[in-house]
Amino acid sequence: MSELFQQSDNRISFPTNYDLIIERLAKINPAQYGKTRNFVNGAVTYLSPYISRGVISVKQIQESVLAKGHHPATIEKFLQELAWREYFQRVWQAKRNALFQDMKQPQEDVVHHSMVKAVADATTGISAIDQSILEFYQTGYLHNHVRMYVASIACNVGKAHWSAPAQWMYYHLLDGDLASNTCSWQWVAGAFSSKKYYCNQENINRYTHSNQTNTFLDVATEGLPDAAVPDVLKATIDLNLQTKLPVVTTPLIDTIKPTLIYNSYNLDPLWRKEEDANRILLLEPSHFKMFPVSEKVLEFVTNLAKNIPNCQVMVGEGSELLMLYKNSALGEIGLISKEHPAFTYYPGAKDARDWIYPEVSGYYNSFFSFWKKAEKFAK
Ligand SMILES: Cc1cc2nc3c(=O)[nH]c(=O)nc-3n(C[C@H](O)[C@H](O)[C@H](O)COP(=O)(O)OP(=O)(O)OC[C@H]3O[C@@H](n4cnc5c(N)ncnc54)[C@H](O)[C@@H]3O)c2cc1C
Repeated sequence: MSELFQQSDNRISFPTNYDLIIERLAKINPAQYGKTRNFVNGAVTYLSPYISRGVISVKQIQESVLAKGHHPATIEKFLQELAWREYFQRVWQAKRNALFQDMKQPQEDVVHHSMVKAVADATTGISAIDQSILEFYQTGYLHNHVRMYVASIACNVGKAHWSAPAQWMYYHLLDGDLASNTCSWQWVAGAFSSKKYYCNQENINRYTHSNQTNTFLDVATEGLPDAAVPDVLKATIDLNLQTKLPVVTTPLIDTIKPTLIYNSYNLDPLWRKEEDANRILLLEPSHFKMFPVSEKVLEFVTNLAKNIPNCQVMVGEGSELLMLYKNSALGEIGLISKEHPAFTYYPGAKDARDWIYPEVSGYYNSFFSFWKKAEKFAK
């Protein structure tokens, strides 16, 4: 892990204070990024929890690194990764609920639709993976390459359908983003890509700086598609993931003024900053029933909301806000939120999100077809 972001016990930490987040943004090293990002201690940014939660945008990050004088060609890998986030968001906007089914073709060679117990228990026997999963439970963060290894072990070696393990990971991720998460799991499992992704022990050793041998992955990758499920990955568990929503008092809402709706994907403290409005972090039981998150994630979300002056937490549905405004002079347009595919049903007006490539919208069949169009604007 980059020492810039380490805390004293060597673990990555994710402060929720806005000034510290902006400090982290200023420390990005986009030139080193391309060369080292696949290594677990590479120069990655650790910004995803703030991007997913809408505190900062990928556009803001891109503008910040370009303002430092980096030429787009020398930091192309970094710009591409930022674009992956937008690409997946566009896929979700276009596919809507079809995002949650096998998107390009059915995942092949599926033995069950449950969670692989050894992955959840961190007992796969692959030390670097087990250690990372244990740390994941502590920090709410997993390096991208490790996410790929875990998904490959669960779906391609363990032959689980991607949906349950993806829910497990989403539950614990501070950066949980249903688009990035679902598309990536499907990509690894071959449901949103032309082939499944496999890794072996040699690959894991290289990028995690370990040197383990004699594991079920200590074989050539070519042999893995035809291998039987290793005994250690056979046991499954049914997930019982639940969100413990906080108990809060009913917020005071003055319906003479508009209400700005924040949620777990929009915690932008600069949004309509100067406006005289009610500010409500809306935690909808119906949303979290469908997409449960851990207590740690919810605590992260509510702490990030503290950057928004006078933001009150409401546990309830958007329809309850609508009822309030139906009887006010402002009517439904008194409710304002930011457009997001998770909350298309919100009543009221919707502001556009910040996009790096607002011109490149709609569905693209692959990231590279999206990027081909986007990169013209990047230059
Ligand atoms: C199985 C699996 C599940 C994933 N689930 C999520 C998720 O729920 N939420 C989430 O934000 N990301 C997810 N990712 C993508 C990626 O792993 C994370 O965005 C990245 O690891 C976040 O760490 P970082 O901010 O240090 O990334 P950096 O490497 O520093 O990248 C900077 C930013 O670029 C974008 N980015 C980088 N890599 C990817 C990628 N592979 N796909 C999409 N965008 C990328 C992200 O916005 C990221 O914050 C998943 C990937 C896999 C393989």
